[in-house]
Amino acid sequence: MEGIIRRIPLAVTALIFLSALIFASFAQAGLFTKKTSIMGTDLEMTVSASEASSADAAFSSVEEEMARIEALMSEWMDGTPVSEVNRSAGIGPVAVPDEVFKIITDAVLISEASGGAFDVTWASMRGLWLFTPGNERLPSKDEVDGRLGLVDYRNIVLDPAKKTVYLKMRGMAIGLGAIAKGYAVDRAMKQIASSGIKDAIVKAGGDMRVQGRGPDGGSWKIGIRDPRDKDRLIATLEVSNVSISTSGDYERSFIKDGVLYHHIMDPKTGYPARGTRSVTILGPDTETTDALSTAVFVLGPEAGMGLIKSLKGVEALIVDSNGRIHSSPGISLGATVAPERP
Ligand code: ADP
Ligand code: MG
Repeated sequence: MEGIIRRIPLAVTALIFLSALIFASFAQAGLFTKKTSIMGTDLEMTVSASEASSADAAFSSVEEEMARIEALMSEWMDGTPVSEVNRSAGIGPVAVPDEVFKIITDAVLISEASGGAFDVTWASMRGLWLFTPGNERLPSKDEVDGRLGLVDYRNIVLDPAKKTVYLKMRGMAIGLGAIAKGYAVDRAMKQIASSGIKDAIVKAGGDMRVQGRGPDGGSWKIGIRDPRDKDRLIATLEVSNVSISTSGDYERSFIKDGVLYHHIMDPKTGYPARGTRSVTILGPDTETTDALSTAVFVLGPEAGMGLIKSLKGVEALIVDSNGRIHSSPGISLGATVAPERP
């Protein structure tokens, strides 16, 4: 295990690419980092610790916790509570663990707040769109229209007393891909905190939590990448004790006949949402920022910014389909936004 944990050398300012999406810069000893893969995405953890063994223990507890959450919330693995809910669509309610019930309830709240732009029943389209490299699939309009009637969060029936979830129609399915990873990052950071570590970053794909002090004793510096150039930054945020999620049209995508198709779906059309290239949300917890980055992406810059302004403690940085950057007024949260080019 220890072999994969890298101690960042003293006196070296290392630019650690926390995936192609976001990076942080470190210039201090005592920082340990580990990259692995979990929940179908890259997991990158950086902690400030007195020795490698305590970093290692924290990393192991994170991996265990994320595997536990995946076993609860994956719609791809057989036998998870979410798979059982999907299997029983149109048949009957399924009792699920409290944690799963809470995430699905939160998902429905975000659906309501976003007027259905965020909708976990997008998964009713599963199999039609494929973004796996080498195995991409562009469905026909008929296929999409044939399934679209199954996409509607209002057909999720929740019973808070019995903790059951029922999908009203046969063929309906939910997928928590735009919210569960953020929740897992929150849980991961709790594991790190309970192992006594105060300064840390956990990043799973586009979802990250930044905690405590950065390498120079102040904020952490987080770069937000240009959605059209992974080597260029559009902003640098100086932040701490905050969650940051980015949804981008470059993540899982393919180009067919000159058109970019990507994995963030507009539930109203069944096609990838247009109008946005990337959305970065800052907020109090990663479950929220994860779901909101997807919601705002689908809503587009105007309506998306409207939603962000209506919520407390949440900020957004949106790159629209023309490459223009929109940022919410209080993007402070201790953050400075410095676009490098207009
Ligand atoms: P990433 O998974 O790259 O972090 P997001 O957080 O934006 O990106 O989540 C996108 C994923 O969410 C998709 O891969 C799909 O699983 C699911 N999804 C796609 N469209 C929607 C939508 N409108 N509402 C809720 N979930 C969605
Ligand atoms: Mg998201």
